[in-house]
Amino acid sequence: RLSNPLRPAILAAARSSKLKAALTKAPVTRRIVTRFIAGETRPEVLKVVAALLESGRVISIDFLGEDTTDRAQAEATVGEYLALLDDLAGLRLPASMNPNNEIAPLEVSMKLSALGQALPVDGDKIATQNARTVCEHAQRLGIWVTIDAEDHTTTDSTLRIVRELRTEFPWLGAVLQSYLRRTEADCRELAGPGSRIRLCKGAYREPESVAYQSRSEVDASYRRCLEILMLGAGYPMVASHDPEIIAAAGDMTRRTDRGRDTFEQQMLFGIRDVEQLRLAAEGYTMRVYVPYGAQWYGYFMRRLAERPSNLRFFLRSIATV
Ligand code: FAD
Repeated sequence: RLSNPLRPAILAAARSSKLKAALTKAPVTRRIVTRFIAGETRPEVLKVVAALLESGRVISIDFLGEDTTDRAQAEATVGEYLALLDDLAGLRLPASMNPNNEIAPLEVSMKLSALGQALPVDGDKIATQNARTVCEHAQRLGIWVTIDAEDHTTTDSTLRIVRELRTEFPWLGAVLQSYLRRTEADCRELAGPGSRIRLCKGAYREPESVAYQSRSEVDASYRRCLEILMLGAGYPMVASHDPEIIAAAGDMTRRTDRGRDTFEQQMLFGIRDVEQLRLAAEGYTMRVYVPYGAQWYGYFMRRLAERPSNLRFFLRSIATV
């Protein structure tokens, strides 16, 4: 991932509105994005979710959208999440998923930037209130919420908002990114009882001053951070497709005597499906992060940047049209 020489260029392109307009209009792109995105509409994503649940995996759904620039758009996003929660609550869960289990099989993931965090006036306040509205509804329905991590300029504000909301919703999850130099300290602070922390490597382009740049440093940081979380009293969520990280997580759970109901594995929809099924069959809680919505461009470009083979797949598909 971080060794992909095209990564900086692709992540820069992820912010280009011209390229976004050209790519999102091209019919071929639409066909390719379905590998990573479960659909543009709620009925489409619900079909995917039903199949994932049937296969023994649990889910977290992300309604795609980021960099919201007006309040009405942020409110529309809240409206979509509320409708999504209602639809999720109406799903029939497989008999194997015990409703009394402490682990919620259903979760939604949200980006605070989609809820108004970047608005020039009262962004933090608006995003907090919007997230609270979603959390209140989710709590009534027994569905979990996790707040995604975005670029490092938002980390302080996001963690502040998570801390505030966790006084009302102690089950609210947060995401930490091992490429950030600060994350070990954040893990120590957030490894307390009941704290649900999704640890990932990080998907944005970050300067050296705040983030490790080489893959080996990011991986080493991931292991240090995971160890802190595993030794802590919280509920770590191991979000990675990396076989070495997954094996290291297995070792740590054995060493720290953690039961399988005290942490979970997570992967993205469309990535390492066979491995997801293997982990679920072995009795791990395997949660799949399922994105949907028309605003898929930024998410899609981050997946292309992660792996030369994802990019090759995309270019080959264009070439064969
Ligand atoms: P990488 O270093 O990308 O890959 C390591 C190895 O994994 C590869 O060498 C290969 O062996 C294997 N692998 C990776 N991809 C594939 C593939 N397609 N097929 C086969 N093998 C593969 N990032 C954020 O910044 N904020 C978030 O809120 C966030 N949420 C996430 C939620 C989940 C559930 C997950 C899984 C990721 C999330 N991410 C988030 C993205 C994350 O930060 C990484 O960008 C992404 O997961 C790639 O890192 P990796 O750990 O999978 O390892």
